[in-house]
Amino acid sequence: MTVTVRFAPSPTGRLHVGNVRTAILNWLFAKRSGGTFMLRLDDTDVQRSTEAFAQGIREDLDWLGLKWALEERQSARLERYQAAAAALRAKGRIYACYETEDELQRRRQRQRGRGLPPIYDRTGLKIDAAGRERLEADGRKPHWRFRLDNSESGLEPLPTIVSWNDAIRGDQTVDVGSLSDPVVIRADGSFLYTFTSVVDDAEFGMTHVIRGDDHITNTGVQIQMFEALGFEPPVFAHHSLLIGADGQALSKRLGALSIENMRKDGMEPMAVASYTALIGTSDPIEAHDSLDELATLFAFEKISSAPARFDLAELSHLNARCLHKLSFVEVSDRLAALGVNGGADFWDAVRGNLTVLSDAKAWWAIVAGEITPVIEDAEFTGKAAALLPEEPWDDTTWDVWIAALKAATGRKGRALFHPLRLALTGMEDGPELKVLLVLLGRERAEGRLLGRVC
Ligand code: GLU
Repeated sequence: MTVTVRFAPSPTGRLHVGNVRTAILNWLFAKRSGGTFMLRLDDTDVQRSTEAFAQGIREDLDWLGLKWALEERQSARLERYQAAAAALRAKGRIYACYETEDELQRRRQRQRGRGLPPIYDRTGLKIDAAGRERLEADGRKPHWRFRLDNSESGLEPLPTIVSWNDAIRGDQTVDVGSLSDPVVIRADGSFLYTFTSVVDDAEFGMTHVIRGDDHITNTGVQIQMFEALGFEPPVFAHHSLLIGADGQALSKRLGALSIENMRKDGMEPMAVASYTALIGTSDPIEAHDSLDELATLFAFEKISSAPARFDLAELSHLNARCLHKLSFVEVSDRLAALGVNGGADFWDAVRGNLTVLSDAKAWWAIVAGEITPVIEDAEFTGKAAALLPEEPWDDTTWDVWIAALKAATGRKGRALFHPLRLALTGMEDGPELKVLLVLLGRERAEGRLLGRVC
């Protein structure tokens, strides 16, 4: 069996850490198993889906390096859904209903009032051909429901357990006797996701469906749809949803955690990939160098079914670690794009102090631009200026200078270094002064030690 999986976002917004986790788990599993990863755009909601969002999703996946072997969009497959619906209608598994939303709501209220669960009472099934004609002559348009297989009479639902062995959660059950027959086609003829997803998963031969555990109830229904269409259901794997570091649901804050924003903030794609791949697993959260390396770690058994805690501080920390490992060659183009024109010596000096790449701009401004030095003790820094060795400078210059300065002032430790750092960089801390000094050059170093803006 060749593994085939898909990532199926709706192009109604940009990707965020939550849905990227779904994407990456699918991608890693495909990679690990030598299978195929497909991008499916669930765009049957024409009001909310846009091409701009679809393009944004592709860009975000590209940026993360999650390549897809094929792309499909649901809006291009309406004929397939029509055909599948016709087949189910012929088998009596899809039936027409004529209630308006208001009528359904009132009915549910009455059911609740009588202490009954508010599930659809299958009135639609009881209407005969003449009744349908009358309703349609009255201008009513039908919507269509899928008849769940949960009743002997065909009308009264009985407790009916649909079960599957979930690759992440183990044995799972859904009682489809407690659910309403789901609407699969709206009165305006548009299809609902629950149904179109099954048609696609079946026709594109998905072997596994890896998605969030907010779809567990859908799975109970969808297993019945696969069977009604004459297909074997795929293996399901439901991962938990992310919660915030504070334990609260993340869903409201996900907009701010978009991949687009992370990219704009200068985050490293491998940091985001490592984090979203490893969060909620039994592997330690570490920065990995490549997606292929992450794929070697992938196993369903390692993924926890408990909610995974997303902590932006932890991601930033991981990002810094990814950044520190990058060589100058790997970042030179991106540095140039940020207007940072330092070479390998500059990069090696500052990379250990960066959390995101754009932090390099501030260090470049300190090394190559003008700053206002902070003079803590003018007499001391004046002496230090006078003792600066003559150029040319190299990596021995610092030791020569500091030895002379120690001898002349008797200072050591913080009393020696802190005023130098403040004067040379205007900052409390930062990269090693030994390296910075050479990058600054004698003229600039001397000027700053004497308190000049330069
Ligand atoms: N478009 C659906 C969603 O984003 C896909 C769910 C699924 O993977 O089946 O929730």
